[in-house]
Amino acid sequence: MQQVYKATDVGLVRKGNEDNFAVFDTVYAVADGMGGEAAGEVASQMLVDTVQQALSGREHIDAGAMQSAILAANDAIRDYVREHPGCEGMGTTATMLHVDEGRGKAYWAHVGDSRLYLLRQGSGQLEQLTQDHSYVEDLVREGTITREEAKNHPQRNMLTRAVGAMENLVVDTGELAVTNGDTLLLATDGLMKHMTDEEIARQLCQGKDDPAHSLVEQALNAGGRDNVTVVVVSLV
Ligand code: CA
Repeated sequence: MQQVYKATDVGLVRKGNEDNFAVFDTVYAVADGMGGEAAGEVASQMLVDTVQQALSGREHIDAGAMQSAILAANDAIRDYVREHPGCEGMGTTATMLHVDEGRGKAYWAHVGDSRLYLLRQGSGQLEQLTQDHSYVEDLVREGTITREEAKNHPQRNMLTRAVGAMENLVVDTGELAVTNGDTLLLATDGLMKHMTDEEIARQLCQGKDDPAHSLVEQALNAGGRDNVTVVVVSLV
């Protein structure tokens, strides 16, 4: 069985919440929109609407199906921008997960700097399954800056990939074996801005009644600089 907890909050600084999430048919998604005015909100909403429409009620969902759904959202957002030139530059992250317990597998698809993490039962250690598509991530990988320096880098919000931002979008995908006791976490960067992987793992291991709200609360207590969205899926 999959126990699902979800929470989103505008944070303490931003005026609007440009994050969105979707939970349906053991498919989970978070999206962090960007663009001036209300454009970011529209983009992340289009992402969750499009993937839900594409995958809802489908018999077999794998990483390829989620990849196609994200590409459909990419087309939809780009069509929208063509009709609304004022929305130029709008886009969204997309991190998706499907857990198929019958097959003992989890599938994911991902674009941007939201993240999917895995906490194996008993390990106490968080494993980041997705790679950030961001300028600072590239600098870290090149060895130009450290992971710590990336957190405060002036260009830390610059993405190298976003849904809606490019015609030929590349979507990362993956799959892994999962079992009872494993926990998967999807989160927008509003969480990681305020919490280290160790802090997130500790919070998840505490066995709180609602780990999603607990994590969001921690991010708010730490300053809530950004919108924050969390979906926690526990296999029990
Ligand atoms: Ca954000």
